[in-house]
Amino acid sequence: MDRPIAFQSKLPNVGTTIFTVMSKMAKDHQAINLSQGFPNFDPPQRLLELAKHYMDEGMNQYAPMPGILKLRERLANKNQLLYQTSIKPETEITITAGASQGIFAAIEAFVHKGEEVIIIEPAFDIYKPAIELQGGVVVPYCIEAPDFKINYDQFAQLISPKTRMIILNTPHNPTGAVLEQRDWLAIEKLVKHTNILIISDEVYEHITFDGKPHESILKYPSLWNRAIVAFSFGKTFHCTGWKMGYVTAPDYLMKEIRKNHQFNIFCVTNFLQHAIADFLEGQSYYQSLPQFFQKKRDLFSQLLEESQFQLIPSYGSYFQLADYSQISQENDVDFAKRMTQEYGVAVIPISVFYSNPPKDQLIRFCFAKTDEILIKAGERLCKI
Ligand code: GLN
Repeated sequence: MDRPIAFQSKLPNVGTTIFTVMSKMAKDHQAINLSQGFPNFDPPQRLLELAKHYMDEGMNQYAPMPGILKLRERLANKNQLLYQTSIKPETEITITAGASQGIFAAIEAFVHKGEEVIIIEPAFDIYKPAIELQGGVVVPYCIEAPDFKINYDQFAQLISPKTRMIILNTPHNPTGAVLEQRDWLAIEKLVKHTNILIISDEVYEHITFDGKPHESILKYPSLWNRAIVAFSFGKTFHCTGWKMGYVTAPDYLMKEIRKNHQFNIFCVTNFLQHAIADFLEGQSYYQSLPQFFQKKRDLFSQLLEESQFQLIPSYGSYFQLADYSQISQENDVDFAKRMTQEYGVAVIPISVFYSNPPKDQLIRFCFAKTDEILIKAGERLCKI
C-alpha cells in the first residue's frame, strides 16, 4: 500500500476483525450468516415503541455523562435482585456504547505500559488490541476443547508481580462454556493478597441453559471490590445495533473509568436510555430468554444430527462450536471461507481468537436466528 506519510502503526499485526470479514463475505455470496453474533429478529415491539416515543418526546440531546439516573437505578435494583449485590447507581454504574466501549475504557484506565493482563483464549477479539494499545502485555491462558475448563494450578503460574488484570468472560464467547461457583472461589483464592483487578465480561448473562443460573462475579463480595463487570442491552433485548450496554464497578474504580469515558464518548444515546429504563420495569422479558435461546440451541443441534459436524456442548451464549475434522483437513479460516462461498453458510473460525492457535478444527455458529433460517442452514449443512 502506498504510504506518502511515514508513521509507526500502533497495531502492526492487527487486520480487520473477523466479524466484519465474515459478515461481508456472507453478504457478497448471499450466504446465510451464522458468523457474526447478532439476532436476525427484532427487539420486543414495546421496546421499539418506547424508543420512538422518547425520540418524539425530544430526548435527543446529550444524556448525563454516566447515563440517565432512572436507568442506573433500575439496573442497580436488577442486580440486587439477581445477584444480591448492592450497587450505588450514582457512582458505580456507567451506561456505555455497548459493553465493548466499557471494557475498552476500563482497560485504558488501568493498564500501564509493561503491565500484564491475563486473558482466557480463545478470547473475544477486542481484549488483546485494547491491552496492546496501552503498551500492556497479553498473557494468554488457553482453555481446550471439549470442556474448556480452567486448570487453576496452571493458571496460577501465569500470575506475576506485573499482573495488573485478569479478564474473564462467562458465558464464554466463542465456546459457550460457563464459569461456576468453584471457578470464582478458585480465582478468589488466587488474587486474594494481590492488587489484581478483574474485568468480568458477562454480556450473555441472560443466555444460560439447562436450568443453570448465570454465576456472576457480582455474587462474590471479595471479588466485586476489585471487579469491573460489563453487560449488554444488545444481547438481552436483541438490539446489537443500538450499541448500548453498561459497566459496573466499585466507586473508587468507576471514578477512573469515567475519566476515560467522559472524554472518549461523553455519553450514549439519550432516548434509548429512557426506553430501556422503562422496559426494565418488568422482569419478565429477560427471564424468558434462557428458554427462548435454549430452544434455538436444541433445534440447531437436532438439525445437525445427520451432518458430519460434531457439536461441542454449549452451556450459554448464543454460540455453538462444531468440529469439522470428519469433513475436511483444511485450516479453519480456509474452511470457513469455503463454507460461505460453496455451501452458503457463513461461520466464524476459532483460531483467530488465539495468540498461538492449537491444531483444533473448530468453527462457531451463531444460532440467534429465526427457526426458518436455522432450518434452511441445517439443510445446507447436512449436505456438506
Ligand atoms: N459479539 C459478536 C460476536 O462475537 C460480534 C461483535 C462484533 O462484531 N464486534 O460475534
